[in-house]
Amino acid sequence: MAYPTTVRQSYVSDLDGLKQAGLFKEERFIHSPQNADIEVEFPTGASLQKVINLCANNYLGLSSHPDVVKAAHEGLDHRGYGMSSVRFICGTQDIHRELENKLTEFLGTEDTLLFPSCMDANAGVFEAVLSEQDVMIADRLVHASIVDGMRLCKAMQDTYKHSDMGHLEEKLQEHQDKRFRLIITDGVFSMDGDLAKLDQIVALAEKYNAMVFVDESHASGFIGKTGRGTHEHCGVYGKIDIITTTLGKALGGASGGCVSGRRELVEMCRQRARPYLFSNTVAPVIVSGAIKVLDLISKTTERRDKLEWNTTYWRKLLTEAGFDIKQGESPIVPVMLYNAKLAQDVSRDLYAEGIYVVGFFFPVVAKGQARIRTQLSAAHDKQHLDKAIAAFIKVGKKYDILGKGKKEIVDKYGL
Ligand SMILES: *Cc1c(COP(=O)(O)O)cnc(C)c1O
Repeated sequence: MAYPTTVRQSYVSDLDGLKQAGLFKEERFIHSPQNADIEVEFPTGASLQKVINLCANNYLGLSSHPDVVKAAHEGLDHRGYGMSSVRFICGTQDIHRELENKLTEFLGTEDTLLFPSCMDANAGVFEAVLSEQDVMIADRLVHASIVDGMRLCKAMQDTYKHSDMGHLEEKLQEHQDKRFRLIITDGVFSMDGDLAKLDQIVALAEKYNAMVFVDESHASGFIGKTGRGTHEHCGVYGKIDIITTTLGKALGGASGGCVSGRRELVEMCRQRARPYLFSNTVAPVIVSGAIKVLDLISKTTERRDKLEWNTTYWRKLLTEAGFDIKQGESPIVPVMLYNAKLAQDVSRDLYAEGIYVVGFFFPVVAKGQARIRTQLSAAHDKQHLDKAIAAFIKVGKKYDILGKGKKEIVDKYGL
C-alpha cells in the first residue's frame, strides 16, 4: 500500500477546489424507471420526490416502453446474459448482425458496426481510417468524445469556427495537399440544440474532395421527417461517408453505439478500431431491445411527431412567459441565464417545485453562457409541460428574469 496521507491530502484538496469553484458534480439517485415522471432522492438521504423529468435524452420515450422491455426479456431468455468475449473471437451473435443491418437501412448507409458506446465508436473510428498523410477538420463545438478520438489518431488536426462555412472552405483550400480530408461535425449540437448545415457541408466536401463525418447521437430517431437524422432533415440522406450514433439516447436509451457508412470504412473499423477489437460489444438483452426500437420507429413516425409537437409547444410557452431561449427546432431547448450561480439557483428552485432540470456552466459550456438545458420527450404529455411552465414562471418571477434579455440579466447578476 502506497497511499500515504500526503497523497490522499493532495486529492482531497483538488476535490475541495472543485467544490469551491462550484464545479463539483453530484449524482442524483432515481428510484424509478426512466420516464417523464420519476422519483428522485436528492440530496442523498432525502425522502423521495416525484418530479417531471426535463433533462433526459429519452427523446422518443422508449427507455421504458413495454414492447422494448418485452423484447429485451426475450433476448435475455433466448440469447443469454453476456457474451464473455469480444466480437472477433466468439462474441458475435446473429442478432448483432441483424441489428447492424437494421441500422444500415435506417441510417441510409452501406454497412454498420456496433461499438460498446458511441464514445467508443468515436474513440476508434478516426485512427482506423486515417493516417499521417490525412487531415481532420472539425467544427469547434464537437462532442468531447470526438475530441478524444481525434487525439488518438495520427492525422493532422484542424478546426473551423462553429458552423462557419466560409471558414471551413478556407481550411479545405489550405489542406488540398493532404491525401484525404475528413470534415467532422455533430448533426445536432448538444448544448445549443442547433443543427449542422449538412447540405452546405456536403456541397463543400464535393467541391474540395473531402469525406464527411457526422455524429448523430442527438438526432437519430427523431430529426428529419421520418426521424432518420440530420442528413434527412438537410436533404443529404445517403451522402454522409461516416455516421456515428448512440443507442443510449432516443434509440432505447440503454447503451451502445455504432459506426455506419461506406462499406470499406466500416470494414477498416472492424479490422482496426481498438474499442471494437478489445472490448465486449453490446449485450444480447440490449441488442434485442434495440431491434424492437428500430422496428417501432420504422413502422410509424407517431412518436417523433409527438416530440415535434411537444417541442413547438414548449418553445412557445417559454417564449410567451418571457424566457430568453436559444432559437431552433430541436428538442434541446436551452434557457439562457448567463451566470453560473443563477443557473444553479434556478435549477434548485425548480427541483423544489417538482421539475427536474440541471444548470450547465463552464467548462461544459463557454464562460458567461450558463443555462438550463431543457429537453423534450415524446413521453411528455401536454399536462407535464403546462405544469412545468407554471413552475418556471414562479421561479422566473422570484429572480426577476422574465422578459429580460442577456444585457439585463448580466447587469443584475454579473457573469
Ligand atoms: C451522448 C453522446 C455521445 C456518447 O454516447 P454514448 O453511447 O453514451 O457513449 C457521443 N457523441 C455525442 C454527440 C453525444 O451526444
